[in-house]
Amino acid sequence: MAEKDKHTTEPMIKPKVVPPVVQFAVAEKFIEMCRSLSIWPMAFGLACCSLEMMAAGMSRFDLARFGSEVFRPSPRQADLMIVPGTISKKMAPAIVRLYEQMPHPKWVIAFGSCAISGGPFVFKGQYGIIEGIDKLIPVDVYVPGCPPRPEALFEAIFKLQELISGKRWWPEPPKEVK
Ligand code: SF4
Repeated sequence: MAEKDKHTTEPMIKPKVVPPVVQFAVAEKFIEMCRSLSIWPMAFGLACCSLEMMAAGMSRFDLARFGSEVFRPSPRQADLMIVPGTISKKMAPAIVRLYEQMPHPKWVIAFGSCAISGGPFVFKGQYGIIEGIDKLIPVDVYVPGCPPRPEALFEAIFKLQELISGKRWWPEPPKEVK
């Protein structure tokens, strides 16, 4: 028998909760997981840090183990811009143009001291470089070093995967023993 409402004579009908037919949140989580494990960097370099980025993709370090080895020659096929090196004022418009040509969603890693802040080229009166790529485009992960090691680029990609999917997929590096 239906339960009676205290204030009315009508039977109280509890609304039936129907689960949504299509659960977009679950689908989005799945897409984010796939996306995070298949990041496609753009192939371009600016200065010495580029060599470490290239080393990360070669057989010794083997970035392919983590799903990001497919460096694309076109910004239209890439979703990650790794900015590896010094940003000269002459190169700045080209970098911004490349970033704008990348489809959404897209991410940026500032790789090395020059890309973060101008590195060793910051001094009074300097006129040739941009002191940090984040003055031109948004940056998701910063990797310090002059140059950073390929392993540091791996950590940056792990961090990016975590930003995209909300989960770190690989073991944490061992803590430094003092
Ligand atoms: S951070 Fe150091 S290694 Fe990297 S581009 Fe600048 S000067 Fe070269």
